[in-house]
Amino acid sequence: MTRIVPGATLGIIGGGQLGRMIALAAANYGLKVHVFAPDADSPAFDVAAATTVAAYADADALTRFANSVDVVTYEFENIPRETADRLAALAPLHPSASALATTQDRLAEKTFINELGIPTAPVRSVDTAADLERALAEIGCPAVLKTRRFGYDGKGQRMLRSGDTTDPAAILAEFAGAPCILEGFVAFEREVSVVAARGADGMFAAYDPCANTHRDHILAMTQVPAPGIAPATAASAIDIARRIAEALDYVGVLAVELFLVADPAGPERVVVNEIAPRVHNSGHWTIEGALTSQFAQHVRAVCGWPLGDPSRVGGVAVEMHNLIGDEVLAWEAILAEPGAHLHLYGKGEARSGRKMGHVTRLLLPP
Ligand code: AMP
Repeated sequence: MTRIVPGATLGIIGGGQLGRMIALAAANYGLKVHVFAPDADSPAFDVAAATTVAAYADADALTRFANSVDVVTYEFENIPRETADRLAALAPLHPSASALATTQDRLAEKTFINELGIPTAPVRSVDTAADLERALAEIGCPAVLKTRRFGYDGKGQRMLRSGDTTDPAAILAEFAGAPCILEGFVAFEREVSVVAARGADGMFAAYDPCANTHRDHILAMTQVPAPGIAPATAASAIDIARRIAEALDYVGVLAVELFLVADPAGPERVVVNEIAPRVHNSGHWTIEGALTSQFAQHVRAVCGWPLGDPSRVGGVAVEMHNLIGDEVLAWEAILAEPGAHLHLYGKGEARSGRKMGHVTRLLLPP
């Protein structure tokens, strides 16, 4: 592997706020960034030394891009496998194309996790109405039908409850022929995530598990440490993230989204929902709240550098709120609030459901 040194160029596939914050962290280490994204109005372009506006399937543009950078990463997992393979043939790509392939398909992902002996919701592959009928008979209701690919923030999924009209063909028609999975509904008490990194040398570093609150399927708030989480549950969540990262031979930051399920017979059970093969919204608190931010950590990992310390600064508790749609209009009030750390993503229009920024508060003892 060629040694990446300050002054080198990091290529980032995807131009959203995650790419923007990776680029800012990369600049801190003296790296240049080249961002590749299909939309000319991408938030990461504002902070990049070079930009390419092209489709993810544009082979010539990908080749020029890969030849102009020293290492490539991505901030967005829904890129075609062929795109990842093309890039990997021309430049070091982290996380790898195979880690991407496993985690971008919900069926491959859950099969992989179960093969490690780690629990997920029960899952069945659904391509036809007959598959859906069989899966519903096996799993029962309530259940969640999801597209195998391209889902995020609750898009591409639908709850199926026992009282609903259940004409499998009509339900599947809503998914326009996309390959799907049916998942059993997990009656969770709360959702947590583990954001962690694995270095090229196999070193592993996890942030404290955080508690996530969603509104309309979009992350609204992250709290760390997860209030009231038992130390054994936190340790087991981190161990799951470590086993997943090792089995994927992962290099970079990943997030493992988990359900905590109450168990009257013993400690709460940890069930994996999904893996994000990238920096994650629930890790934004690390910019101010941890000794090494998830973005700096990701840059370190993909450059083959030693990982930084993921500990919370002074052991403080931290809260991160997303600013979604109109909530961004509070930016001046947030600026006036002592100790509130405001991050705006430079997006033009505050459309409903759009992540416009976030605010982090360190909850210092009085
Ligand atoms: P996902 O896109 O898979 O992360 O799902 C988005 C959200 O839907 C999750 O954060 C959960 O709140 C909810 N959800 C997804 N799958 C399930 C499930 N099998 N059981 C219960 N809730 C779920």
